[in-house]
Amino acid sequence: MISISEAFEIVERETVSLDAETIDLNESIGRVLAREIRADTDLPPFDRSQMDGFALRTKDVEKASEKNPVKLKIAGESVAGKGFNRKIKQGEAVRIMTGARVSEGADAVQKKELACEFKNAKGEIFVEIFQTTKAFQNIALKGAEIKTGEKVFDKGEIIGAQMIAPLVSFGCAAVEVFQKPHVSILATGSEIVGVRETPKPDQIRDSNSWSLKAFAENAGATVDVLPRVKDDFENLKSHIAKAVGLERQLRSTNDELRQKENFKLQIPNSKIKNQSKIKNQKSKILILSGGVSVGDYDFTKPALRDLGAEIFFERVALCPGKPTVFARLNDCLIFALPGNPVSVAVTFFLFVRAAFLKMQGAKNYKLKSGFAVLAEKIKGAKGRDSFLPATIETNSKGKLIASVSFGGSSNFIAFARADCLVFVPRDENLEAGAVVKILFLP
Ligand code: AMP
Ligand code: MG
Repeated sequence: MISISEAFEIVERETVSLDAETIDLNESIGRVLAREIRADTDLPPFDRSQMDGFALRTKDVEKASEKNPVKLKIAGESVAGKGFNRKIKQGEAVRIMTGARVSEGADAVQKKELACEFKNAKGEIFVEIFQTTKAFQNIALKGAEIKTGEKVFDKGEIIGAQMIAPLVSFGCAAVEVFQKPHVSILATGSEIVGVRETPKPDQIRDSNSWSLKAFAENAGATVDVLPRVKDDFENLKSHIAKAVGLERQLRSTNDELRQKENFKLQIPNSKIKNQSKIKNQKSKILILSGGVSVGDYDFTKPALRDLGAEIFFERVALCPGKPTVFARLNDCLIFALPGNPVSVAVTFFLFVRAAFLKMQGAKNYKLKSGFAVLAEKIKGAKGRDSFLPATIETNSKGKLIASVSFGGSSNFIAFARADCLVFVPRDENLEAGAVVKILFLP
């Protein structure tokens, strides 16, 4: 049995990053930037008014008050999209709108509410200013937010909806991102049936295929859900072989064997290892659920072994999720997760998600960590570190309070509202009020 951190390091070691591709910005949410983004313009691109009002010289209005307003001559108008193109002189103001360019010579904008425009008998337009201004008041200066050439986003950042406005503003109609990994999901178990079926006695609906699909898509993978497989060694073996692209090779191997030796369907390891690798396997991951324990009908590990898979680990000192398997077969990485839905979720978030994000070149492929205060006491597992689902809330003192909602590794209803995983070191009993490490769920 290996520790969680040893298992994680193995996952990191075996995961390679994928190539880059250029995609439309419209398709980019959740994708990982393969190239840093730099500003192609200053922002704001010009000195910009933040108010509807009057662009003026601070000096001209330094004596302005409600009782003694300062009168300035309106030299023209600056609107968004069309500025006023002359330097303003002493005693002049320009009527200006929010978002418009502040004309040269002006160093402040007084808002409309503190001014009053009027026409004299000759038809000349003036404005009375009722309050002094400070230099640069109500002006967003050119380049104050960012200057041309400065870095906006790093390579390895995951594109979120909040990043779209800057990307558009710097002209990124297309973005270079890392390719998506491709995952096949294969749920095993003679008891599991489809969502539209009514389970007979002894049966349950297969929730793992669905939650794994949702988790994997959220982590940027494209997903194929394969037909469920019953707990049958040969059948499971041939489905795994097919999922990792070995099927055709196996069929010819077996045909050959059958002809030569009149053998039953049997797949010797040596034959498989010599087969040529199929293309683009490195973007592929297979996730199996169920059948990794020590029961008489747990065939996943024997099937993987018989197919010649390289098994990196098969037992992790983790609760829930001890019998987690990580392997490779025909260049395809395989996670075989314990069938209990909460174990599936916890092991996905600890290991599989990191693999997906690392393959996509994400800088932060680990779950974000932090600290919280335990709402209730909790008992650590014997000999295994726990990551238990919990909800979090802040209290009135600004502390983050974690309430563990772990009703056992099968209780996906308790897991459904989890915000984070609480770390409980092996063999430790933590009291209510203890500060614990947490991993935020995405
Ligand atoms: P196993 O890992 O096969 O021993 O399964 C552990 C528990 O998880 C059993 O109670 C199974 O019925 C349940 N289980 C296995 N596969 C699934 C699945 N696809 N969806 C929901 N529960 C499952
Ligand atoms: Mg089973």
